[in-house]
Amino acid sequence: MNSTKRRGSWKRREEQMDESTVATHNHDDHRRSERKDGEETKSRGKSYRLLTFDEVPDYMKDNEFIRKYYRGEWPLKHLLLSLFRWHNETLNIWTHLMGFALFLGLVAVNLVHAHQVVDLFGIFRYFTNGTETNLSYNSGEIEETMKLHGAVKQHHLNHLGYNSMPVEIAAAQWPFYTFMGGAILCLLSSTTYHLFSCHSHHLSLLLSRADYAGIAVMIVASFFPPIYYIFQCQPHWQIAYLSVITLIGIFTVAALLSPPLSSGKYRVFRTLLFSSMGLFGLIPAVHATVVNWDNPRRNTIVAYELFMAFFYLVGAGFYASRVPERFKPGFFDVAGQSHQIFHVLVVLGALAHYGAVLVLLDYRDVVGCDTTLG
Ligand SMILES: [Zn+2]
Repeated sequence: MNSTKRRGSWKRREEQMDESTVATHNHDDHRRSERKDGEETKSRGKSYRLLTFDEVPDYMKDNEFIRKYYRGEWPLKHLLLSLFRWHNETLNIWTHLMGFALFLGLVAVNLVHAHQVVDLFGIFRYFTNGTETNLSYNSGEIEETMKLHGAVKQHHLNHLGYNSMPVEIAAAQWPFYTFMGGAILCLLSSTTYHLFSCHSHHLSLLLSRADYAGIAVMIVASFFPPIYYIFQCQPHWQIAYLSVITLIGIFTVAALLSPPLSSGKYRVFRTLLFSSMGLFGLIPAVHATVVNWDNPRRNTIVAYELFMAFFYLVGAGFYASRVPERFKPGFFDVAGQSHQIFHVLVVLGALAHYGAVLVLLDYRDVVGCDTTLG
């Protein structure tokens, strides 16, 4: 919003942290004792100050455009407490920690109530139902209607755009929870990586592998709801697509968890793996668009998935290009760096996919397989 003002406040924060670094660097005990902002933590006589890029061990030198505010090889307890300190990973940690909490909350609410009441503050429901909201449409109502007034129900469904008599009412929930579980695992492993990876080289390797594996699991898990619900009435395609994406997922996770492939020189190979997993989605996506040509919700689902693709692609662009920090090294050390933007876009992409999955679940709650849509 007000970038000048915001930059001003970041600048002040930088100056405060510079002060902290200088104070500890000079081992100026007098100045240190005067500190009241808690920037520096002392434990058993040892101080934990923030380091510059040139001071950190080689394995931490991942982005040369982030110049300062690195945590060193701190004990795990101090890294945990660093959740509440400003350093160059603070926002990387919090963006995915909040995403993790959001998806965990959505799962909890979905478990407590039926999925149809969980609309993320009404946003998804608004876009999903549009004008149909006026009909007080929900799956429970349709179920009741179906039981009591067969003919009236059919009219009601026709009015909603469903032309066929529903056969099954409650859609299987497990593909939905598979996706949510994948998103939660990915966001949690990312949070853990950014919080603790600087503890030691060994832990950094371990957690970076878990972080990559988490991304692969989330990609694979994202495929489950759309493939399951769209191809529900064509089990051979459903099984074929889910089997292939599961095999690709197992291979990718196994590859990413093996020590050699998580090293820097295989970065291109890893990028190709993730890309091929994402691109594989184009095959069932095109197939699904053809299968669902008459589905009244098709455009809504496609719109959500295009938003998802947009967020993920733009996110990958920021991740790979290291924009904006490459244009002003050191300026975005604490806030505004590419990785933080990438993290936010990953959460937005997952939320867009959640929106699409809700539409599919709604659809499968009223339209089973004995229909012209199969
Ligand atoms: Zn990250």
